[in-house]
Amino acid sequence: MGAAGLFTKSDLVTLGRAASLAEALTEDFFGLTLGEWRRNPYGVFTRKESLSTLHETNVFASVIRYPARCDSERVRDHRYGIVLQDPNILLALLRSAEHDLWALGLFILTHELVHIVRFRRFGVDFFATVADRDREERVVHQVTGEIFSGVTNMAHILSLYRDYDDAFNHCPNNR
Ligand SMILES: [Zn+2]
Repeated sequence: MGAAGLFTKSDLVTLGRAASLAEALTEDFFGLTLGEWRRNPYGVFTRKESLSTLHETNVFASVIRYPARCDSERVRDHRYGIVLQDPNILLALLRSAEHDLWALGLFILTHELVHIVRFRRFGVDFFATVADRDREERVVHQVTGEIFSGVTNMAHILSLYRDYDDAFNHCPNNR
């Protein structure tokens, strides 16, 4: 874990593994068919890979929606992505007694994939009002908690989450 505030290469390997498990957990929880995420790929972007307009100070991650192809005008032709806010995640771990990027990363990625499943399959509106977003946030938080129920250090992970939230962002190309 680097102190500079951006993920190192080894952090990215850890997060890649966490993403694979998060995919399996959400496929299982929602009864999705195996390979759901391979057929419907989503993007994962770090601070370095995202535009500064997507940098946030109070969130671990954001869900974005962007055209599947940059030249695509078709509204239906879109993908969801997860923008990870490296400095916020690393800072939370530095402040914590347990510097466990694997566990926190797994929780964050699972939480964001739950959002994406609900956007894609449960008719949740990506462009919802603030009140509806708050309601949806509570549902997603609860579902994520259910997915991890019985996991021993989840109380600790949830305590790290207390000061942070996430956000929905629109791809700048879509504006
Ligand atoms: Zn959320």
